[in-house]
Amino acid sequence: MTNEVWWRLGFFLSILVIMMLIEWRMPARTAPIKNRKRWFANFGLVFASSVIARLAVPVGLTAVALYNQQHGIGLFNIIDLPSFLVIVLSLILLDIIIYWQHRLFHRVPILWRLHKVHHADAHIDASTGLRFHPIEIVLSILVKLVAVSLLGVPAIAVLIFEIALNGLAMFNHANIRLPPAIEKPARLILMTQILHRIHHSQRGSETNSNYGFSVIWWDWIFGSYKGAAQKPDNELDIGLKEYPSAKQNASLWGLLVMPFRNK
Ligand SMILES: [Zn+2]
Repeated sequence: MTNEVWWRLGFFLSILVIMMLIEWRMPARTAPIKNRKRWFANFGLVFASSVIARLAVPVGLTAVALYNQQHGIGLFNIIDLPSFLVIVLSLILLDIIIYWQHRLFHRVPILWRLHKVHHADAHIDASTGLRFHPIEIVLSILVKLVAVSLLGVPAIAVLIFEIALNGLAMFNHANIRLPPAIEKPARLILMTQILHRIHHSQRGSETNSNYGFSVIWWDWIFGSYKGAAQKPDNELDIGLKEYPSAKQNASLWGLLVMPFRNK
């Protein structure tokens, strides 16, 4: 656990670099606005969100999990189950909670104001997978804090979950298209890029589908799965109709104040 930061940073940078290299060599779609400008805003927001989240919630999730383990707090720290099973159950339950949190951010207008910063991106690539308003990040940390404490999730499961969620978000937002021979079977397990682009479509009925950030199963089980959009993947209109211009999407300040402006 002492190397936690390095594990997280290592996976984050490796997956980001691999995704950006594939996007560069084999992009699935062409960006409607200059990537350089989008990246400045998107990565600027990633940095701002990390700093603000750290200040707002100075305690780490794994530290809380360790404290809970030592003090017998939370379900899995009370009942006696094999540790492997506890880790698997923790990952599944945390992922289902994040799926429902995502649906809630679409459903509740005040939360949508925050989450639309993510959806307003007129193009979708690995950087979109990291583009979240700082307040959404803080709320998400608080949700996970409560979940980790109620369930008694072990610290190792928290670490695996955080690395996987972050890595898979970059994977399924990446501007790549897996070959059909891989994409078809992958759809049985993962939220693939083609499926997640449907979630970023401008059509409301398509936006309100494919909420998963990692596995596809929760969308199947809870009835939000959509296998195809009206338009084919390469013609899909990405983003939000209200934010068509490059300007709003290419300034860090524009993204930070987006939830507080009436549109
Ligand atoms: Zn969404």
